[in-house]
Amino acid sequence: MQDFELRVPRLLEHAAREHGGREIVSVWADGSETRTTWAGIARDARKLSQALEKLGCKPGDRIATLGMNHSRHLVAWYGAIGLGGVIHTINPRLFDEQLIYIANHAEDRVLFYDKVFQPLVDRLKPHWASIEHYVVFDPDESAGEGPDGFEALIAAEDGDYAWVEGAERDPCMLCYTSGTTGHPKGVLYEHRSTMIHAMAEVAPWVFNLSPRAVVLPIVPMFHAAAWGLPFAGALSGAKFVYAAVNDPALLCRLMNDEKVTHSAGVPTVWLSMFQHMDATGEIPRHLQQVTIGGSAAPRAMIKRIMGMGVTVKHLWGMTETSPVGTAGTPPPHWEEMSLDEQLDLVAKQGQIPFGIELRILDDDDNELPRDGVSSGRLQVRGPWVVKRYFQASEDAVGPDNWFDTGDVAVLHPDGTMQITDRAKDVIKSGGEWISSVDLENAAIGCAGVAEAAAIGVYHPKWDERPLLLVVRKPGSVVTPEDITAHLAEHVAKWWLPDEILFVDALPHTATGKLLKTALRAQYKDYRLA
Ligand code: ADP
Repeated sequence: MQDFELRVPRLLEHAAREHGGREIVSVWADGSETRTTWAGIARDARKLSQALEKLGCKPGDRIATLGMNHSRHLVAWYGAIGLGGVIHTINPRLFDEQLIYIANHAEDRVLFYDKVFQPLVDRLKPHWASIEHYVVFDPDESAGEGPDGFEALIAAEDGDYAWVEGAERDPCMLCYTSGTTGHPKGVLYEHRSTMIHAMAEVAPWVFNLSPRAVVLPIVPMFHAAAWGLPFAGALSGAKFVYAAVNDPALLCRLMNDEKVTHSAGVPTVWLSMFQHMDATGEIPRHLQQVTIGGSAAPRAMIKRIMGMGVTVKHLWGMTETSPVGTAGTPPPHWEEMSLDEQLDLVAKQGQIPFGIELRILDDDDNELPRDGVSSGRLQVRGPWVVKRYFQASEDAVGPDNWFDTGDVAVLHPDGTMQITDRAKDVIKSGGEWISSVDLENAAIGCAGVAEAAAIGVYHPKWDERPLLLVVRKPGSVVTPEDITAHLAEHVAKWWLPDEILFVDALPHTATGKLLKTALRAQYKDYRLA
């Protein structure tokens, strides 16, 4: 057979050649709208590769972005990768300290950014040691000390450019984990891992993409490689609709105007969508599939979306797994299942696609059975799973490449994976584990509860007991007794929280997940009544 290096620019070549007319729509922070196509993205990416070379960029160099979702961000991905560079998507929601650390650690040479992040860039510029060029994505902008605007930069080029060739194991992208613990760690994706991941993603049992798909990714382009969608989208020739602002009214309008069939994002985005839908009566009419991941999709959310006639895909993964690990897909007997059975299944984290292998271990590293009961540390391996963090001196994996995810999971006999907690978030009561995630999901199903977090707090007899922190929905008068009564229908009696406290808001990580470390620190000395 022939040599055919699995290099990412081939994806864009394919999209431009076979699906060149398929549109990429962007709504910008100022509300304006632009339209291009996969052919346009390929043309602009070539011009950007030329421009970056003129700025002195070479294969292997890190080229960073601080940007929301839009077509120019997509061009930056492919333009950086096209010259053999490494696109490094920085999460603008991180703390200053982390942003300084990440850009310096990555030794980024160029930074493309959205104008809305100008104050952040001005603030951190003195601390960023390696960035030589600052380029603003927004049209007609030239902010600060002479950085060229993105359009001006590519307008100066003719696009007569051949992508830099190289080996398929060369790096192409760098993403840092948002760091719920410790310093952020960089995961360096390779052309090969990215290509294989993209090929796996388009399958019906993962994202189910085709040239007919119209995708509105709510997942930001700076979060875990945007779940690989910019690559899988090019492979499949899907149309993309990007919104640079995550406003539910805008998202809903775009979903209807552009006939969006596929959407993907973390659960919290759906909470605000529901509020908008309740307030206006508007619903996304063309949606066929919603993919939820990044944290557990609550059963009540799945039920509501399925009630709209939309397939819900529950995705589990992490930055370290490119990020797809498992994805929910209906089993052969789906039609014979009751709604409750279907919801129970979709609320779990899905099945294992080819390429991923999973196992669970007990505290003594013994492998546990796939019996639907045993719960243990989840490990993963496969061609798109991390081996060593960027610039680290040691591998991140144990013997035989098993990577410890930090999650605690159950594997069911039918191959379904169910996350029961993060190892550090488990509540240990009298030596037994209580799943904080299960408590939270059950609490969210109670009328009047907007959001809930369960943490373990000190208990003289049991070591730890659950404390539930609840944000009420606006106008709700739900009581701790109501919530306890609701929980009692869903969890074991000894799991019921010893106390329920109402709070105005809960802290979140940069990617919208509950920040349990902050809550644990805040309630460290809390004594149960
Ligand atoms: P960070 O740890 O910085 O948030 P990631 O975005 O890579 O980084 O998050 C990966 C983690 O998110 C997983 O290890 C898991 O704990 C959690 N997670 C992702 N998807 C799901 C899901 N569907 N259900 C429960 N937890 C999930």
